[in-house]
Amino acid sequence: MAMLSGKKILVCGVANERSIAWGIAEALHREGAELAFTYVNEAIEKRVRPLAESLNCKTVLPCDVQSDADLDNLFSELESRWGTLDGIVHSLAFAEREDLGRPFSKTSREGFRLALDVSAYSLIAMAGRAEALMKNGGSILTMTYLGSQRVVSNYNIMGVAKAALESSVRYLAADLGAKHIRVNAISAGPIKTLAASGIPHFRELLASFAERAPLKRNVSQEDVAQASLFYLSPMSNGISGEITYVDCGFNILGV
Ligand code: NAD
Repeated sequence: MAMLSGKKILVCGVANERSIAWGIAEALHREGAELAFTYVNEAIEKRVRPLAESLNCKTVLPCDVQSDADLDNLFSELESRWGTLDGIVHSLAFAEREDLGRPFSKTSREGFRLALDVSAYSLIAMAGRAEALMKNGGSILTMTYLGSQRVVSNYNIMGVAKAALESSVRYLAADLGAKHIRVNAISAGPIKTLAASGIPHFRELLASFAERAPLKRNVSQEDVAQASLFYLSPMSNGISGEITYVDCGFNILGV
């Protein structure tokens, strides 16, 4: 029997077929999960709807995570369609390109606010609203990157946002654990996606990563999807508050 049959999972962050969230959605679908997708604006909606339909999914809802009204509507819509929720894939982030490219000490106040709001606060906002729907417990999974722990050129404000996100994973895990809601993160190695193309010199990062990583290759969408399946399935029932590296071993390296 499929590992996730009967499970209802919300997937946030599909922009196109290269999105990390899309790889995860395909894996969840293969394992029998029923999915709902969100989109941030009309341009993304045009890409997400056909992808969702290719998995026979009809639940495609608007949600700009900067809007409390959008978040409220999303979860009340899920409540009326599904009644319960078993999992969330939070695979989204945003920072202004200028704030990634400029020297870190010149990060703007608005750039800081925006990056932290979209990339970190959104996880707290979703988890808080999901709690009432996760009547049988649940699993919430987010995506982070090594730039939260180490200095990675051009990652700048997004590194600070990911540090806040990872800390939020731990506080949420502690807060929601008594309700059998688990919260974890995957720290993925670099993958060529729409969001990644906003990071200056990303191509060079990919090349040096494949050369240096212990597994001598780049991470694939499928690598992240497989690990995500583990976190959204009962196979990880005893794990919460963890940050797991899916990065071909890159994070262990010193000089
Ligand atoms: P992507 O561009 O495919 O996905 C990013 C998503 O964020 C898009 O769907 C976009 O619509 C959404 N988004 C942006 N602002 C939003 C808002 N205000 N409200 C709702 N949604 C919003 O890129 P991706 O690489 O698949 O990114 C997914 C996650 O993985 C991000 O958190 C990213 O930081 C993380 N990550 C990516 C890499 C990589 O190298 N690609 C590595 C580690 C972690």
